[in-house]
Amino acid sequence: MTFDHDLKATVRTIPDYPKKGILFRDITTLLADARAFRRAVDELVQPWAGLKIDKVAGIEARGFIIGGAVAHQVSAGFVPIRKKGKLPHTTVRIAYSLEYGLDEMEMHVDAIQPGERVILVDDLIATGGTAEGAVKLLRQIGANVVAACFIIDLPDLGGADKLRAMDVPVRTLMAFEGH
Ligand code: AMP
Repeated sequence: MTFDHDLKATVRTIPDYPKKGILFRDITTLLADARAFRRAVDELVQPWAGLKIDKVAGIEARGFIIGGAVAHQVSAGFVPIRKKGKLPHTTVRIAYSLEYGLDEMEMHVDAIQPGERVILVDDLIATGGTAEGAVKLLRQIGANVVAACFIIDLPDLGGADKLRAMDVPVRTLMAFEGH
């Protein structure tokens, strides 16, 4: 598909960042390209056009940029999911697995009302550890997670399948082999 290739070409790949062996998929080049940014947001929300979405939850930090634009597009509120210790009000917290070890993420306890329809957004899904933690956190406060969307999928790492196994429909716009 031409669209896929056009958009994919706006993602910059940095080898060996942040450490040797990693191919870092840098979306700042996509975001800086007005057509690509608009197209990515339009395509991410396309399956949910016309459906009522109450909130978009974005994962710190690149999920804030894309999630904010997605929320605006679907006329939903935006909710940040942050690393621990950053949010000022009462929070709910969950531990999640990273490549090495554990970390914790938080959201405000009153950010979403039980039963609200929520879309989760991040730039990229790899092992799915981050997004899985976010889905559990959202469900913990009663959110109805309608979907998760990511610009980039690294399918060899199985993250999107992990979310689908949790009954979360997943939307991604492009895939890169390997990790
Ligand atoms: P994971 O929890 O393994 O699915 O990792 C997803 C998170 O790590 C996302 O917030 C991504 O921004 C980041 N990430 C993981 N792998 C890469 C990569 N190869 N390039 C850029 N970001 C990555």
